[in-house]
Amino acid sequence: MKKITFLFLTFLILISCNEVDSSKNTKKETKKTLNTFAIVIHGGAGGIRRKYINEEQQKAYTAKLQEALDAGYAVLEKNGNSLDAVQAAINVMENSPLFNAGKGAVYNSEGNQEMDASIMDGKTLNAGAVAGVNHIKNPILAARVVMDSSKHVLLSGKGAEILAKKYGIEMVDSSYFFTQKRLNQLRKIQGTEKTQLDHTAFLIKNELIDDHKYGTVGAVAIDKNGNIAAGTSTGGVTNKKYGRIGDSPIIGAGTYANNLTCGISCTGTGEYFMRTVAAHEVSNLIRYKGLSPDKALHEVIFNQIGKLGGKGGMILIDKNADIFWDFNSNGMFRGYKKSNGESKVLMFRTNK
Ligand code: ASP
Repeated sequence: MKKITFLFLTFLILISCNEVDSSKNTKKETKKTLNTFAIVIHGGAGGIRRKYINEEQQKAYTAKLQEALDAGYAVLEKNGNSLDAVQAAINVMENSPLFNAGKGAVYNSEGNQEMDASIMDGKTLNAGAVAGVNHIKNPILAARVVMDSSKHVLLSGKGAEILAKKYGIEMVDSSYFFTQKRLNQLRKIQGTEKTQLDHTAFLIKNELIDDHKYGTVGAVAIDKNGNIAAGTSTGGVTNKKYGRIGDSPIIGAGTYANNLTCGISCTGTGEYFMRTVAAHEVSNLIRYKGLSPDKALHEVIFNQIGKLGGKGGMILIDKNADIFWDFNSNGMFRGYKKSNGESKVLMFRTNK
């Protein structure tokens, strides 16, 4: 009897060893192997076409996106966790006037800037977010404080700022966020019901204005331990109503991470991403319907958001460290860097 048990155990051990070996050796291996890590970022989606962005601007965007990728990647490379990597990448974009987050935040209908941000940990499903803040230099850091140091998920306005200050997050006078470019964008549509996300090119003095570069920023990372994190930071949409909050600080809509499926950050017409609970919907399609990430993204962006009239895009890293993105707008600032050496920064849809 003992002999049979011994043989049976040996058989089991052999089977399990074989499984480990075969997963290591598969050439087209998509299953995450130990020490694989990756980061994907976006800098907003919208009317991003070659004819609207000159070469100098293209270079500036490419360089800043690369800097953000490098900052996040450096954290992962040094065995850092995915939350810190997401934060590091987003910080770079928040500090740049090129993007609609932090320094480059757009103005609301009153001529003020109100920023939103969120972050989520795919391992624990912990999350933190802030909404309607305008004295926090890097709103993503405040979102992290809400996650780590409060029992809440989303704090708005003054309360979010009090907590951020208490935990040593850098505060600034709201004049820090001033940029003439964003103010000009507001002046073009202030006093109308238009927000700069209606995505309809409009005519001013017979000149076609298609300046719908949403500019929200986001990052998703998977670290060496297979933990996924996602974050998003935004100034919202130009000419939004006072107090308007979009999808970016809403967990499940603009940001979601779950080690069982994927991490996602969204950009686009926030109201539609909220109504479809976009990021969580993608995760659920993968988890419960068995869709591949690219099919799940397509379903939500085109068949759900698109059908309602929404525009935008999403970036995604799945549990195997594979990277996906999709968008139904003309372009999306985006890039990724993987531990296997692959890296890319893009902004246009091909041929546009
Ligand atoms: N989704 C953001 C919002 O609606 C805007 C954007 O992505 O540019 O606030």
